[in-house]
Amino acid sequence: MTYRLAVAVEAPQYSGLGGPLDYLSELPLPPGTLVRVPLGRREVPGLVWDAPAEAAETGRPPLSDDALRPVAQVFTALPPLGDAWRDLVAFTAAYYQRGLGEVALSVLPPELRKLDDTKLARRIARLRKALEQGGADAADADEDDGDGLEPADPANPAAAAPPRPAGHANEPPALTPDQQAAVEAVTAAASDGTFLLHGVTGSGKTEVYLQAAAHTLAAGRQALVLVPEINLTPQLEARFAERFKGRRLVSLHSGLTPAQRLKHWLMAHLGLADLVLGTRLAVFAPLPRLGLIVVDEEHDPSYKQQEGARYSARDLAVYRGRLERAPVLLGSATPSLESWHRAQQGRYKRLDLASRIGGGVLPQVRLVDMNLLPRTHGVTVALSPQLVDALRERLALGEQSLLFLNRRGYAPVLHCTECGWKSGCPHCSAWRVFHRGDRTLRCHHCGFTERVPRACPQCGNLDLQPLGRGTERLEEQIAQALPAARVARIDADTTRAAGALQERLAAVHAGEVDVLVGTQMVAKGHDFRRITLVAAVNPDSALFASDFRAPERLFALLMQAAGRAGRDARQAARSQMWLQTWHPTHPLYAALRRHDFESFAASQLAERESAGLPPYTHLALLRAEARTPEAASAFLDDAAACANEFPEAEQVLVYPAVPPPVARVADVERMQMLVESPSRAALQRLLAQWLPKLHALRAAHKGLIRWAVDVDPLGI
Ligand code: ADP
Ligand code: ZN
Ligand code: ZN
Repeated sequence: MTYRLAVAVEAPQYSGLGGPLDYLSELPLPPGTLVRVPLGRREVPGLVWDAPAEAAETGRPPLSDDALRPVAQVFTALPPLGDAWRDLVAFTAAYYQRGLGEVALSVLPPELRKLDDTKLARRIARLRKALEQGGADAADADEDDGDGLEPADPANPAAAAPPRPAGHANEPPALTPDQQAAVEAVTAAASDGTFLLHGVTGSGKTEVYLQAAAHTLAAGRQALVLVPEINLTPQLEARFAERFKGRRLVSLHSGLTPAQRLKHWLMAHLGLADLVLGTRLAVFAPLPRLGLIVVDEEHDPSYKQQEGARYSARDLAVYRGRLERAPVLLGSATPSLESWHRAQQGRYKRLDLASRIGGGVLPQVRLVDMNLLPRTHGVTVALSPQLVDALRERLALGEQSLLFLNRRGYAPVLHCTECGWKSGCPHCSAWRVFHRGDRTLRCHHCGFTERVPRACPQCGNLDLQPLGRGTERLEEQIAQALPAARVARIDADTTRAAGALQERLAAVHAGEVDVLVGTQMVAKGHDFRRITLVAAVNPDSALFASDFRAPERLFALLMQAAGRAGRDARQAARSQMWLQTWHPTHPLYAALRRHDFESFAASQLAERESAGLPPYTHLALLRAEARTPEAASAFLDDAAACANEFPEAEQVLVYPAVPPPVARVADVERMQMLVESPSRAALQRLLAQWLPKLHALRAAHKGLIRWAVDVDPLGI
């Protein structure tokens, strides 16, 4: 007897091959079974999608069985992926307009492709045995799988964590009434709603996650905890590991070796792990007993995948919670305006933590009006004398300061004082950044790097000057202003080497650093106990950026940075956050001074509503890349004409094609077109009918390199 199966395979982006393909099998394989199937001349991994009986009723053209090819290999060792998991994947593919198989296969651990059924069976057997014999920790010793040696776990959470202050033993503290109410709401019987936990840094959100997760585990279910970037939150992982000693906790993120990732994924899928802590890709971890999803720092942009299926792990977590009847806990000091709005509509339940634990107060916010500073040669100094004095004061007291500036390198541009030449990138519509350390000009968009020219390439003048400043220059200026200070810099340039970030963080925690300079990397997550002064050196640019989300991001960043100071209650009273600004009366700063997220959110939402922006409208962005801007525009213009032929177009607005802020990158010209609708459903219906047509359209546009759609884009 042979059966006809629908198998999801990794086919190119929505190409007509987006749905499952039919194959034959000797066995009635259940949906979710991992297989290998022939596709053209290759053999590719696939997942059985529909139940064999249903396969005949899928409405695909009736092919005779002779035309179908048999499944090449079945992975019997792997239990099939469950219905809920396949629902989540199917939703992701449909909502973000990608191929089903493409999404399904891309969220499985890559290592799975390399194994055959026998090897996989062996690995699973060994994993089970190790866990039985040695409890949770033994699993980590099981890295050598006979297929090659694996290095030790590079992301050992305990290594990067600061020493815990007293009172951080295993046993949970008694909750405050606010925390208690939050934990009870989330863990109430039959609770499967979405909760928005709002509280400033240090208000006890993590403790709520921990105790809610403890309930979930006690009920015999699994908890999934999502964090924005695992390297920036080693402390959270360490706290979970510490609290749930004796339980099986695994991490899932791109920093794992392929073998580790497979092992951790298997532990989740086989129900062997109690708790999965991971970055956005972990939202797809198969969990047979899922009982809770936590999304920490739910506003963080890194939850949005920026290539392939551009999914939002935060939004998928909410969807998954509903699907699997598991409560979802979104936590933030500065929730995304989307989540905040949903809480206001009553779709999410808001839980507030009103104050910092232990009476820590938020730092006082001080604005330095840069307009009032004297100018030398028409240029204002980078560091106001007031700020330098404050830094000096901290230094004398043996306290730490944190300065951040969202721009790495020495200066964003080098220019010629004679003829006005600037260090543009020949391949991009962007400047090349001057890096003083290795005397290079580097393009941060395409990577094009050259040594700094000795003389102006245009006129031969020897006097080339940096314009503006980045973290490298700021570090130098602080060293000049405060020669006695020990200055450390943390940005993408200083932390490229393996272990460099952890090393620098450890030095800060050990008190070996007086002034820490960095990009927004340092403003996130870290629990720096000795910092009493945080300063944003030049935060203004986001105020007037074309991206409508820039103010929201700036506010979140500044609130988060402010949260770095004064976490130690004894120092809290003296803690300060300094902002150097040319716009001291801007309402964003006024709200920040009061630590008033609510009024900031209210004013932003009012602006968004009147401007017809999310969350009041729904957006998709169609991007096109070509050798010339004209070719990219021509494709988008034709695409727009095509869109307007669908009846849904009445509820959807297709804007003219425009170049993005950096239009040319690596000699490729980019254009984009915004598609907007007050109705999410109408937008989705339009995209589903329209995008398949663009594949045919593409063939008619020879100059086009590629196109892609981004549903719910972060920046436009
Ligand atoms: P957040 O996640 O909001 O930054 P945390 O959960 O990390 O806040 O709490 C801040 C600090 O207060 C941590 O050191 C934590 O261990 C401690 N803490 C949290 N809740 C309590 C509590 N109920 N009693 C005592 N200490 C607490
Ligand atoms: Zn010149
Ligand atoms: Zn470039």
